[in-house]
Order: sequence, then C-alpha cells, then structure tokens
Amino acid sequence: MLSLEEVQLKLKDLRQAVSIEKDHRYIDVQGRKKTFSRFVFDTLKEMPPLTLDDGSGADNPVDTLRRKFENYPFMDLGGRMRTLESMEQFLIALSRQGAAQRKAPKLSTEPPKAGGKSIHELEVKYLKGVGPKLAQLLGLVGIQTVENLLYYFPRRYLDYNNRVKILDLNQGDEVTVIGSIRSVNAYKTKNGLAILSLVITDDTGMMAANWFLGKLSQASLEAQKDRYPKGADVMLSGKVKWDTYKKIPAMDRPQLEILSYQDATGVQENDSLHAGRLVPIYALTEGLNLRFLRKAIHQALQDYLDSIIDPVPQSVLQQYGLMPLKQALRQIHFPETRELATAARERLVFDELFYVQLRLSLIRQQYKRTVKGLNLVYHPDGYAEQLKQALPFALTGAQQRVLNEISQDIASDEPMYRMLQGDVGSGKTVVAILTLLAAVENGYQGALMAPTEILAEQHYRKCVEWLTPLGLRAGLFVGKSGARERRELRQALLNGQIHVAVGTHALIQDDVEFAKLGIVVVDEQHRFGVRQRTLLKSKGQHPEMLTMTATPIPRSLAMTLHGDLDVSILDELPPGRTPIKTTLLTHSQLGQGYQLIRQEILKGRQAYIVFPLIEESETLSAKAATSEAERLQQEVFQDLRIGLLHGKMRPDEKDAVMSRFAAGDLHILVSTTVVEVGVDVPNATVMIIENADRFGLSQLHQLRGRVGRSSHQSYCVLVSDNKTETTLTRLSILTESEDGFYISERDLELRGPGEFLGTRQSGLPDFVLADLIEDKDTLEKARKAAFAIAADGEYLNQHPQLRDMVYQKTDDTFSTLGSG
Ligand code: ADP
Ligand code: MG
Repeated sequence: MLSLEEVQLKLKDLRQAVSIEKDHRYIDVQGRKKTFSRFVFDTLKEMPPLTLDDGSGADNPVDTLRRKFENYPFMDLGGRMRTLESMEQFLIALSRQGAAQRKAPKLSTEPPKAGGKSIHELEVKYLKGVGPKLAQLLGLVGIQTVENLLYYFPRRYLDYNNRVKILDLNQGDEVTVIGSIRSVNAYKTKNGLAILSLVITDDTGMMAANWFLGKLSQASLEAQKDRYPKGADVMLSGKVKWDTYKKIPAMDRPQLEILSYQDATGVQENDSLHAGRLVPIYALTEGLNLRFLRKAIHQALQDYLDSIIDPVPQSVLQQYGLMPLKQALRQIHFPETRELATAARERLVFDELFYVQLRLSLIRQQYKRTVKGLNLVYHPDGYAEQLKQALPFALTGAQQRVLNEISQDIASDEPMYRMLQGDVGSGKTVVAILTLLAAVENGYQGALMAPTEILAEQHYRKCVEWLTPLGLRAGLFVGKSGARERRELRQALLNGQIHVAVGTHALIQDDVEFAKLGIVVVDEQHRFGVRQRTLLKSKGQHPEMLTMTATPIPRSLAMTLHGDLDVSILDELPPGRTPIKTTLLTHSQLGQGYQLIRQEILKGRQAYIVFPLIEESETLSAKAATSEAERLQQEVFQDLRIGLLHGKMRPDEKDAVMSRFAAGDLHILVSTTVVEVGVDVPNATVMIIENADRFGLSQLHQLRGRVGRSSHQSYCVLVSDNKTETTLTRLSILTESEDGFYISERDLELRGPGEFLGTRQSGLPDFVLADLIEDKDTLEKARKAAFAIAADGEYLNQHPQLRDMVYQKTDDTFSTLGSG
C-alpha cells in the first residue's frame, strides 16, 4: 500500500498531467509511454481507496473517475472538458483533505482490519497450517493470497479406479501407474539422438519410462535429467509396451506428473484428502509438495468458502445451467465425480470469459451512449449509386448484404462501430469506398487508412479511377510526400476540397486536419494498434467507424478480442474465380515450379516469388531476396524481366516497381512478405513461396491470395525441405482448403492464440482455464449473458458486486490493451 507521501507525489503527477492536457486542447496527449488518459487511468489504479469527506456519500470516487478516463479517448471535446473538470475538483478536494490529515493523526488510507479482509487481499501466510516458509514456496508458483490459492486449479485428477500396479501391467493397456523414481539415465545414441530413461518402482515391480528427444545439446539433456529427481513420487499414464532391452514393462513418452519431491512415503490410501476417488494433481515447483498444497487448499476452502459471494446473479446461473461459485470451487479441487469436476470447470471457465465479455460490452455501450451517430443516408441517385452503375462488375450478394448492414449503422442514432471480415479477394475495397461515399453524399469527408504505402497507393489509385468521374477528389497522405505537396494537401483537406483522404498512419499525424470527417475506414486493421485506430477516430467529432481485416480471425477469437465490435462477414468471392491449385515441393523439385512460371508467362500471365522474413529481420530477408533475384535473372530466367521488392527499399523505388508490375511490364516479382497485405494485380497467376514452413498458415493464405484474382487458373507452390510430420500436416491444410476461416481455425488450433496473433499486438487476456477452441460453447454463453447485462443500463447498478468484480478481474488486460 502506498504511504501518504507517495500518494501525495502521485497526486502531483496527476495535477501536472491534467495541466499539460489542457494546454494541448484535450487531444489526449501522447506521453513517452502512454497517452494522457491511459496514464491517469493507470495511476488512479495504484491509489488506495481514498474517501472524500465532502458529505456526498458517493461511493469510491476514484473508481468513478477511472471509468471516465477509460472512455476519455471516445469522448467529444465537451465530454473531455467535463471529465477534466471533475478530475480537478477531485484533486483539489483531496489536497485539502491531505492537509487536514497531516495535522490529524487519522489517515483515511488506513489498511482494512485483518479480520475483515477478503480473500482477495488476505495473504496466504495467515492461513492455518501455512507458515512463512510454505508461503514463500507458494509465492514461487504465483500464489500470494487466499484467492490465488483457491484459483490455483488442478492440472488433472488422479483416478484411483484406473490405477494399476506394475505387476499387473499388460502390453497394450492404457493405464496409470504410481511409483517413485529409482534411477534417471540420459544418454545419446551413436547417431547423436538423445534419450531420457527413468526406472520407476512400486512395491510390486519395476518399469521404464522413455523419451526420445531427438537432437539435443548435452546441456539441455542434463537440464532434462534434472527435472526428475531420484526418489520423487510420480504418476505416469500411457500405453504399456515391453522394453526388450531392459526386459521390463515400459511406456514411451508417458504423461508424467511429479507428486512429491521430498518424501518418498507414497500416497496413503486411508487419507481421504489424498486418496479420494479423484485426487487433484497440481503443477508444483521444487520443494513444494503436492500433499502440502492439497492441505492448504483444503484449509482455505474450509475457512473461507463461506465468505465468498457469488458475483454472478442467480438468474444468469439458472439461465445458462451453471454451478454456483462456492460449489464450483470445491468441486474443481476435490470433485465427487468426474461429472461434477467438469461442471465446476465449466462454471469457472464461464467466469473468465464472462468478465472480459462484459467489460468489452460495457466499453461499447458507453461509446454508443456518449457519442451520437451522424444519421447518414444514401440518396437514391447519390454518388454511391452512380459508382455502382459505373463499376465493371455487379456486387456480390455478400457485398450487398454488408453494405445494407453498414447503411443501417450509419443511419442510426448510434455511431457505427463495425468490423468487416472478408477473406482475401472477397472485394472489401469496393465496400470501403462505397461506405465512404455515404459520408460525401451527406456533406462529410471520408478517410481510408492502410498499413503500408504500397497498399495506400493502390487504394488511392482505385479512388482516383472511381471518384474522379463523379467529380470528387481523393488525396494521398503518405510519409514520403514533399513538404510543399503536403502543405497543399493539408490545406485542401482542411478546406473540404478533398472528399476522401487515403493514407498510411501519416493520416493520423497532428497537422492533418479534416474540415468535417464523417466516416473512417481502417483496412487490415489488425496491423494497427488500438491507439492508432482511436487517434484517427479522434480527428472527427465522432466519425462512424469501419475496420476491415483479411485475416479471418476465428469467431471464438474475434469475440474475445473484439467483443466490442459489430462484425460483418464477406463470405462470398466474386464470381468466375477458379480455385488456386496449391502444391508442395522440395527445393530439389523447384525446377517444376520454374517450369510452371514459364508456361504461365508464355500465356501472358505474371508471377511472384516470395521469401520469408528471416529471423524477423527485414534487412536479412531483403538481402536474401536481392541475391535470389540476381541468381534467377542470371541463371534461370535470363530472357524475362524480374523486379525486386522488399521493405528496405525507398518508398519511391517500391512504388516504381509495383507500378511496373501492375502495368504488366515485369514478368516476375521477387519479394519479401511486403506483398502479403492487399496487393491486387489480377494478371498474376503463379506464386512460389520459399521456405513455406516458416510462415503461419494464415499468413501463407494471405500471400497466396495475391493470385487467383481473375478468371484464369492460378497456382501456388509451397517450397519446403522440412519433412517432419507436423510441417507436412500443417502445409497440407493449405493444399486442401482455400477457406480462410477454416484455415485460420486450424492455424489457431495448431499454434495457440499467442503465436497465432503474434505477441506484438495480441492484447489477448491470459486465461487460466479457458481454451478458446474447446470452450466455444461456454464462450457463446458468456457473450450472450454479457451483452444482455450491458444492454440494460441499470443492471450493474443493481448488482454492485458484479460490477466491482468485472473491473477487478479485467483491469490488467485492459490497461495493456489501451497502451498499444
Ligand atoms: P480484398 O477483399 O482482398 O481487399 P479487393 O477489394 O482487393 O479484395 O478485391 C479483389 C479484386 O476483386 C479486385 O480486383 C476487385 O476489383 C475485384 N472485385 C471486387 N468486387 C467484385 C465483384 N463483385 N465482382 C467482380 N470483381 C470484383
Ligand atoms: Mg484489401
């Protein structure tokens, strides 16, 4: 807890921040690490629950203020001014109170009395039977408080019914054995493969457990060995075979759990805590004993379970068939049956997901309530209609449906806050432009932001092609524009002479101002941080917002990350596309790939050859692509024109190459993954992707989406020498499917959410229990329940316990989300 002095210092920081923000006319100043509002939000979080003696009786003013600052980025100018005003009043009142307190001995930051502490605060060392020493060990696995202890869930259960003595093992059985480690042996075979082998005994015999670890350094092998201390009690499950070498039964790669490190006393059958029907197994650390941990948890349940209040209302539990919290906490640790353990887990998974969903819904409701929509309507003979008539194609059913959804959003009193997901090539650009025209038709401007210059320029060209005949002007805002050109553009934007501004993040720079911004579209939104999206939004009073992504995020993940957005899906490709033929080759077979390129170029088509990012270094991959382009030119395609594109080139160089390729002037484009995002050259029909195993499936799918953009047959060749089963399985998903949603579901399944999203911008909450794939149904329930509650403006006021819990449980996640 902060001392009074520290609190005073924080207050000073806050006062200073407020004054800077006012000097900057409430733009939510970007500090070195955080925005102003995020800084205030985070700082208030560290403050103890101060009380104001202003007689208002308002409950914790710090919380109320924090919530305001959470929504600060979404507020209009008036809202921001009012928020800062209440902040200032709060600070003044506090410093008066602080002055009074320095005279009087009584502090309002006094710690709560030990007896009245909730499990959320009560340190685990005060638990009966847990001394400072055990508390320290528990600290090593992240358990500080009694609440942490109760939420330290078992990894699995030991089922005594399935337990088998070594003497009774039969070849081929799937069983669980309990014993202790008698010896540990780690060695390498003649061809350098590492093997780790344990001998396990129980009172009836001996068996082996073997792991084949492949190529491993001596040091890692030793480290592996250290994980299995001699004498430790273990439980292992797996399939029984016969070890012909040791002449004892064995298991290859068993699931092995260490039950205790120190006492090799074994499990006492008469002790019901440790040998009920289903006994919990927890992750341990050196020195921490399973029996101690069980006892501690049991003690905590006995002493504190009654004091726990279930924050989820009875009606919600009933509606979704969920177990009450107390029962769930008891049953997850010491289940009476498998079924009860499963039900307990479901309830606790629900909680994890529910709080996040509720927080997201609240943010969204808040946004919709505080910000008023612009009521934009399409006119029957307006620009959008004119463009539709002029397009060389008819919109697909899906495009039409999404545009209907959008037109309802923008016409309503609430601002649009929608995400459009559409697989590569599904035609998002035209939807974006038709959306922006709604702004123009109603006297506003539109903004289209793209993550790369190549893409921004491509969009700009489309805008010029489509908007100029309508008498409208588009402007391109990218970093490279010269000072004079930039000044002229800025002026035109401010005067309202530019109707649609297209650009990279150059669009969100301070000196770019719109006359009247109505709609913002962010393409490939996952490439931007939350902050960048919010910044563009703050350029208007409260523009309507559409974000687009071609990385079809599996629904489960999209809900978790973007539960605050409405989602539209373009699930139909424009007609006449033939499926891309995808094959897998090794490097020695690459000649076939080159052959294919030649054939296609003879037919007048074009080709891409892509190199992966090597070790996340654009410099190194630029080098690889450069030398490969030279090699291809000199040795393979002497007679063809080859262009080179990589991230280290100057923007105008990139631009020149892209234009030549788009114009059909280059036969082959050798590039790094910079072509991944959005590039649209329909005449290109072959893509070779080198070292394909280094890419995620979704990324490969994105890359491949650069071909197959016309009615010509297209081809994709994945090159990989990696023949492991996992790689082959992964890559074959691509040769079999072209459905971006299916592919990303599988990708997520294979790589897990962290890797799938990339750490850079994941912002994904850390779930302890919830598995976004396995627990899809529970997620759906959590989302429904959360939306219903958020939609009822009064609900949380009537359920303060739930309200507090939502903020308590989600603050960590949402503070990191905002500072991106
Ligand atoms: P993405 O969704 O990947 O951004 P684009 O917007 O780049 O896709 O569209 C891919 C290609 O399909 C473009 O050449 C575009 O002009 C074309 N296209 C878009 N909609 C249609 C349609 N309804 N019929 C035919 N072609 C279309
Ligand atoms: Mg696109």
